[in-house]
Amino acid sequence: MTTHRVHNFGAGPAALPLPVLERVRAELLDFRGTGMSILESSHRGPAYSAVHESATARLRSLLGGAGNHEILFMTGGARTQFSALAMNLLPAGGRAGYVTTGRWSEGALEAARRVGDAVELWSSAGSSHDRVPAAGDIEVPGDLAYLHYTTNNTIYGTQFAGPIESGDVPLVADMCSDVLSRPLDVDRFGVIYAGAQKNLGPAGVTVVLVRRDLLERSPADLPDTLSYSKMAAKKSLLNTPPVFAIYMVDLVLEYLQSQGGLEAAAERNRAKAESLYAAIDGSGGFYRGHARPECRSQMNVAFRLPSAELDEAFVAEAAEAGLAGLKGYRSVGGIRASIYNATSAAAVNALVAFMGEFARRKG
Ligand code: PMP
Repeated sequence: MTTHRVHNFGAGPAALPLPVLERVRAELLDFRGTGMSILESSHRGPAYSAVHESATARLRSLLGGAGNHEILFMTGGARTQFSALAMNLLPAGGRAGYVTTGRWSEGALEAARRVGDAVELWSSAGSSHDRVPAAGDIEVPGDLAYLHYTTNNTIYGTQFAGPIESGDVPLVADMCSDVLSRPLDVDRFGVIYAGAQKNLGPAGVTVVLVRRDLLERSPADLPDTLSYSKMAAKKSLLNTPPVFAIYMVDLVLEYLQSQGGLEAAAERNRAKAESLYAAIDGSGGFYRGHARPECRSQMNVAFRLPSAELDEAFVAEAAEAGLAGLKGYRSVGGIRASIYNATSAAAVNALVAFMGEFARRKG
């Protein structure tokens, strides 16, 4: 039986590696000899325990150990982390700093302000979030409880080249849309969080790395499942974790390891992004990229055609040609091609070919 599969450029939930989906199908009814699905297994039983430990160990291995950090599996998506972060790390009388480079980092700042004092240190709102700050643009006050930023701006298609210099202030990163897309020096960060549904697996689990010394800051009266220190103490098994999502994360990580780890992923991602941006830049102005060239994302490529009508026709005709999920974010419009780890070079080549053909017909 052949299965109909399109090239999926959706921003998230996003494409997953086909070998992972096939493995899930193969293991679904009888998980590794247990005679039951992993969906039906106790989260305290040996079958699931092995999965839970494996996912944690694979993350550590891909991240070069992450020896100073606890790895947590939490629920409620990244949006819950917007609040949980401030609830755990922003003490009464303290102040957090935020760099806002898009809708999501603005949301993180709003959530922190509901908890305590949070200041915006830099924003790209004045130029429609077409850039991220250059090194030296941000003055980081030394008394901040933490400095928060979003490494990759899913909606606007901008990305930081590397971590912000924050001195002794713990650096916190929302890495939802570029986690594990390239090598990462975890020790530069106090906290990293990422919903799984772009680069790590399905929706339903959020991976949170917390530097151990910061666990002391979690106030004792936080709800258990929002407390970094309580979740860490119970190895994310304080309550029933999203077992199926974590199982799939483990498979995605195993696949990533088999493909050469983060260095190799970065090389593949760089090549994919380069060919898409070349198609934009070589179109004689028919396609116009949103991000300033030096701030371009390798994960989300946002661009426009000469009119909203052409944007719409592009998305519709691309979908007919088997290229799905290209519509830009609802409030921003235009086109957005999300090309996370699981998007193949073949998918990007098909999109580049379609772009050339569409421009010839309509340009
Ligand atoms: N941060 C970023 C950078 C995102 O891209 C998203 C979702 N696209 C979110 C936060 C929100 O994630 P969730 O839907 O898991 O709450």
